[in-house]
Amino acid sequence: MTNPTFAPATALVHGGVRRSQFAETAEALYLTSGFVYESAEEAEATFEGTADHYQYSRFANPTLSVLETRLALLEGAEACRVTASGMAAVHAALFAGLKSGERVVASRALFGGCHWIVSTLLPKYGIETEFVDGTNLDGWAAALSRPTALVLLETPSNPMLEIIDLPAVARLAHGAGAIVVVDNVFATPLLQKPLALGADVVVYSATKHIDGQGRVLGGAVLGRKEWVEGTLHPFLRNTGGTLSPFNAWVLLKGLETLSLRVPAAERTAARIADFLAARAEVARVWYPFRADHPHERLARAQMLGGGTVVSFAVKGGKRTAFAVLNALRLIAIANNLGDAKSLATHPATTTHLKIGAAERARLGITDSVIRLSVGLEDAADLEADLGEALAAGWRERAAA
Ligand SMILES: *Cc1c(COP(=O)(O)O)cnc(C)c1O
Repeated sequence: MTNPTFAPATALVHGGVRRSQFAETAEALYLTSGFVYESAEEAEATFEGTADHYQYSRFANPTLSVLETRLALLEGAEACRVTASGMAAVHAALFAGLKSGERVVASRALFGGCHWIVSTLLPKYGIETEFVDGTNLDGWAAALSRPTALVLLETPSNPMLEIIDLPAVARLAHGAGAIVVVDNVFATPLLQKPLALGADVVVYSATKHIDGQGRVLGGAVLGRKEWVEGTLHPFLRNTGGTLSPFNAWVLLKGLETLSLRVPAAERTAARIADFLAARAEVARVWYPFRADHPHERLARAQMLGGGTVVSFAVKGGKRTAFAVLNALRLIAIANNLGDAKSLATHPATTTHLKIGAAERARLGITDSVIRLSVGLEDAADLEADLGEALAAGWRERAAA
């Protein structure tokens, strides 16, 4: 069931399955903290590493193993470890191998928690960090003209959906001696394969499309076997950012439908981007596969689809954007994404509040911007909801 030549849809349903003696159809849920040994000798052999036996669920668990195998098959990675959340995955991917005195270069347009780790946490441990504009290759080249241990980037970025040239940045990073860690949440494992484009490590918040139904938190780190087993695994097993077997089981159920959900949401997202761009109340739309996206060619070169998130700016400021959000009936105001339910948020006052006005200005996150995570509803129903909300925002602006 782990044949690497299976197409994604097949691997997502069967990948990694290891049936117990009861021959269950669905993946077994091993909700256990520990495992018993036949004898003291078997326990000793297990701890010596000469017996193949589970020890403790902080180290490894059969339900987590199935999820890790399935994710590795999907990604085309040699190995995977899953974690309690996406931030546990990013934290582990960075801290597992970094040492004080080393240097990290990151794209500025990062998820809030990742931005905080780079700007605030790493420097506390004597790790020098520098942010660059991820879309500016000269900026990357300048920052990577000095020896660097690790590069962290996110493409497409949240919420402005900037696209970073993965092969070009990977070349520069490797020239500086750095490993390249890509946060691939917005592209999903189906629409972009960072390892094939030069990255060394891929991280996910499985909370997003992999669960896809807003139920559990989870994360994953994927890369070469030697790094995952030799560097990442000892860090994870001794620091404890372990995923619950129950959450792993929920994520396995999520993966079974990923190849149906992501293309469906993406088709609707592309249609809604066009719908929004044609509306008089909308100043601008950002969607990676639209002809007016500044990096459309690059997006099409390194992604298989434009993704499930659309950002747009209303004509007007915060009051208008709030009026639009408050008038939505079907689409919920929520800062999560990658859910079956369509969710809208005002990044400047929620997800990107803490980075401050100056950093928001640098990233182009104005008070007019709304981020829309497109779900699985009927496209016409979503358009009707957005149309009425935009009209309400327009009336608010006219009255102001
Ligand atoms: C949500 C998210 C994270 C963090 O994941 P959690 O599961 O919330 O910890 C990291 N990066 C990106 C791009 C995300 O969207």
